[in-house]
Amino acid sequence: MERRGPRSNFASSLDRISRQLDTPEGYIRLSGPLEHDNIVNGDGLRAVLWTQGCPNHCPGCQNPETWDYEAGYLAKIDDLKKELKTFKGQAGLTFCGGEPFVQAKACKEIADWCRKELGWNVWSFSGFTYETIKEYSKEPWEFLKSLDALIDGPFILAQRDLSLKYRGSKNQRLLHLEQGTGKILSIE
Ligand code: SF4
Repeated sequence: MERRGPRSNFASSLDRISRQLDTPEGYIRLSGPLEHDNIVNGDGLRAVLWTQGCPNHCPGCQNPETWDYEAGYLAKIDDLKKELKTFKGQAGLTFCGGEPFVQAKACKEIADWCRKELGWNVWSFSGFTYETIKEYSKEPWEFLKSLDALIDGPFILAQRDLSLKYRGSKNQRLLHLEQGTGKILSIE
């Protein structure tokens, strides 16, 4: 099965989006408030951060309101950290979207802080494949290296399978990663 995904689309999307986003340093654009005690976006009780903006436009996407890069709202990262600190009993944080990897720098800062300050593990969804993110490199790859798990690939309506854990379509993979290197440890 083809796993590489559209590299040029990813690169050009990110370049175009980073010009479009115009997010000030220290902020991230979100589509909704932080969640906690979520059990459907990763193992254990989890905090969830919903990013705004997605270039993938998968037919059948459940969150099309998260596509627009100018919708949602800007959140101060320091305020998010204060709020995350109040969430008790969480196993970790999951980045959902939207497409978290278009705001990779801000996501990495939050991911690293959660690991260091709260002792949480960190997961993320992406509509891009692991291989595409690795090939593109730069900030998205740095963010990926700070993760414990990545659920990768676009949602493909023709491959929808509601029985899959945390995923919507059969092409998507749950990749367990070696934190710090991005090496794939196992694939579900
Ligand atoms: S990557 Fe996710 S948020 Fe983006 S269009 Fe696809 S399913 Fe929707």
